[in-house]
Amino acid sequence: MTQKTATSLIRPALEEVPNYKPGKPPAAVDGLQPYKLSSNEHFLPPISAVVEALTEVTNPATYPDPAAKALTAELANYLQVSEDHVAVGAGGSEIITALAHITLEAGSEVIYPWPSFELYPQASALNGAHKKPIGLTDDFGHDLPAMAQAITDDTRLILLCSPNNPTGPAVTADEFTTFMAQVPSDVLVVLDEAYWEFCTDASAVDSLAMLKHYENLVLMRTFSKAHALAGFRIGYAVGQPEVIAAVRKATVPFGVTPPSQHAAIVSLRHVDQVMTRAHSIAAARDEFVDALRAQGWNVPDSQANFVWLPLAEHSAAFEEACVKQSLAVRNLNSGVRISIGPPEAMDRVLNVAARFRQRHFSTNKV
Ligand SMILES: *Cc1c(COP(=O)(O)O)cnc(C)c1O
Repeated sequence: MTQKTATSLIRPALEEVPNYKPGKPPAAVDGLQPYKLSSNEHFLPPISAVVEALTEVTNPATYPDPAAKALTAELANYLQVSEDHVAVGAGGSEIITALAHITLEAGSEVIYPWPSFELYPQASALNGAHKKPIGLTDDFGHDLPAMAQAITDDTRLILLCSPNNPTGPAVTADEFTTFMAQVPSDVLVVLDEAYWEFCTDASAVDSLAMLKHYENLVLMRTFSKAHALAGFRIGYAVGQPEVIAAVRKATVPFGVTPPSQHAAIVSLRHVDQVMTRAHSIAAARDEFVDALRAQGWNVPDSQANFVWLPLAEHSAAFEEACVKQSLAVRNLNSGVRISIGPPEAMDRVLNVAARFRQRHFSTNKV
């Protein structure tokens, strides 16, 4: 037998899969509480009913319900759809990966906005699909006309992210319907709504209502952000039963653990509290955006729990200035994404931002 390197065991498509690049942790600074504003996590623990429910003992020796029946039923009731319209997975990330698996193969094309969620190129490349990232508009929203133009006979999947991570704007109802009218019915459109609970823009698309109009639309949502359950890994898809049945085939069996299923159910039963907290984060976000604009920054409208500073070549220096103040923010090279944390953290970021402007830009907006 000839000796081969282990690399020859791996599909060539893997060469196209980007590696995950973690952000920098905050430096330890005497007298300063460190804040991690780099992962869009909730800065509070889950609501108290969920924390209490987690002390209930579940036996780790037994497998979870593979179909997550109780959680699926709870979600179906909450969303006012039947259970065959909902599939749960180990985070929205598993749902997105499953949606890529059920649509993409070598030779097919996938269209997504860029910059957007880092998993899109990864999940697409794993399936050997041809990636078509489409740049954002000058306002940092989706360029939906350009995305529609990019559709060819080989296009199988289109990913939309509303509100868009990392830049913040939501897709409006008008933009969405104009776009969908141009998408062939055999192309699956995924609306990634990881941050929908923080959206306060009345013109944003009402995704659940849209499901009734477009059979090729599927929504992705998660308990990671507004429900403050990122560590528990629970996400879900809402769509037509045929698509949902395929997603169930493509997700890992037993992926959502019993404590996770239970936490998600309790959190949904107290969803009013979750929404109240999301809206207070939205209010803090709007104040933070106003304060940055008052300093002279060009900040896109954000409908999520983070704000984007389009710093371009100054991104690394800004991240470094934050790290020195014991603040972790996310440098994505074309800009820096800052998650909304407690008021003290946002005040500290504003101080860093003001000093940064003085040092790096005298008058001009960036
Ligand atoms: C956080 C996030 C998700 C899902 O994350 P999970 O933790 O896997 O549920 C999906 N899309 C976007 C844009 C996100 O930011």
